[in-house]
Amino acid sequence: MAEFLPGALRIGEPPHAESAVDQHEPGTVLLPRAQAGGLVLAEAIMSSEDIPPFDNSAMDGYAVRVADLSEGSLVLQLSSEVRAGQSAMSALRPGTCARIMTGAPVPPGCDAVVPVEWTDGWVEAGPVAIHRLPVLGQNIRRAGRDIGAGDTVFGASTVVTPPVVGMLAALGKREIRVVRRPTISVVATGDELVGDGEALKAGQIRNSNGPGLVAQSVYAGGEVVLEDVARDDADSVRAAIRRGLAADILLVAGGVSVGLHDHVRAVLESEGIEILFRGVRQRPGKPLVFGRAPRCAVFGLPGNPVSSAVCFEQYVRPAIRRFLGYPDERGLRDAVLEEDVVKRPGLHYFSRGVVRAGPGNTLTVALAGEQGSNIYSSMVRSNCIVHLPEGRDSFGRGEVVSIEPYAWTHGA
Ligand code: AMP
Ligand code: MG
Repeated sequence: MAEFLPGALRIGEPPHAESAVDQHEPGTVLLPRAQAGGLVLAEAIMSSEDIPPFDNSAMDGYAVRVADLSEGSLVLQLSSEVRAGQSAMSALRPGTCARIMTGAPVPPGCDAVVPVEWTDGWVEAGPVAIHRLPVLGQNIRRAGRDIGAGDTVFGASTVVTPPVVGMLAALGKREIRVVRRPTISVVATGDELVGDGEALKAGQIRNSNGPGLVAQSVYAGGEVVLEDVARDDADSVRAAIRRGLAADILLVAGGVSVGLHDHVRAVLESEGIEILFRGVRQRPGKPLVFGRAPRCAVFGLPGNPVSSAVCFEQYVRPAIRRFLGYPDERGLRDAVLEEDVVKRPGLHYFSRGVVRAGPGNTLTVALAGEQGSNIYSSMVRSNCIVHLPEGRDSFGRGEVVSIEPYAWTHGA
């Protein structure tokens, strides 16, 4: 699929949709680090500083000179205190110690920190009795121990996870260059569709695909730039498609099949969009159409809500993830069927299933009820797709099949 996505996949493609795209480095965008979560770094990140920047204490305790201490001589005189955030400090004189707090710089001469728990507690002045001998360097965190100045901290293609954002802050990097999100247009088609807030008249249904596909697009990491509804006439479909082609990815739902009023395929062709395939031996989603314009990948999704949702997860989501620079995430797992299943041979079934933990480390899966492509409730009830391959016509209870948790399935 990915190689069919013109202009939508590689860093370096010129931008063509309105978004915060940097004209100098097309395909990437400079973002405040907190807005870059879930995106992929477009360049390596080097550190210009040591982390930590200075030798500091790992404990609240007393800064000491190890040479001043021996088994028979474990008492030092308190000289001063070093707090976190403090800079200038005098060297530790022989025979003395200083109260030191976690994160405070160790004073010159200090070569170990004795935790306060190894003493009789905090004293204001006078002798400090130490219970155990520290070793050289104990509880001192050396400058550059975590990250050294000049280190490559993250390679390009690193996913910006929450700890990456934290590390960027530690490095003082406020803005980072990441692969931009693909822009996505969502066009639902159908004379029967009404929007939110309108009363249903005879023959009408509410548009569920549009909002569902918008949510799936956002969940996958896309930036939805257009949500539209077209009527079942060629001009209305054409106008919506023309608008939608300004995005990297255009999703047209409904009207892609062979009905007398299904105009999407003909309009796509008359608009010069190269159709790469139409019709896939699968259920649901058999009428799926895929084409490309010079700067846009076009998916014609069948109108039944389950078909459009399943086709999105199987074809559109991987395209979006590829655009974003993610590695292949397809996560097929083995699960033991809890029931006998009969299917039509010659079609790959993407059935809605409920996967759960079985004995030991195994998974078991049952179908999530009625599988008609208009039965949206079983889509909502399910937490995975069960793959039932084309060549078979039945599967027995106890057989191992491949399942694929949805991206939104908890723990997937
Ligand atoms: P179509 O692919 O246009 O032939 O539509 C197939 C079925 O899906 C029909 O029953 C349509 O009413 C229904 N459908 C099409 N678009 C939507 C939509 N946006 N929301 C809900 N159902 C839809
Ligand atoms: Mg229709």
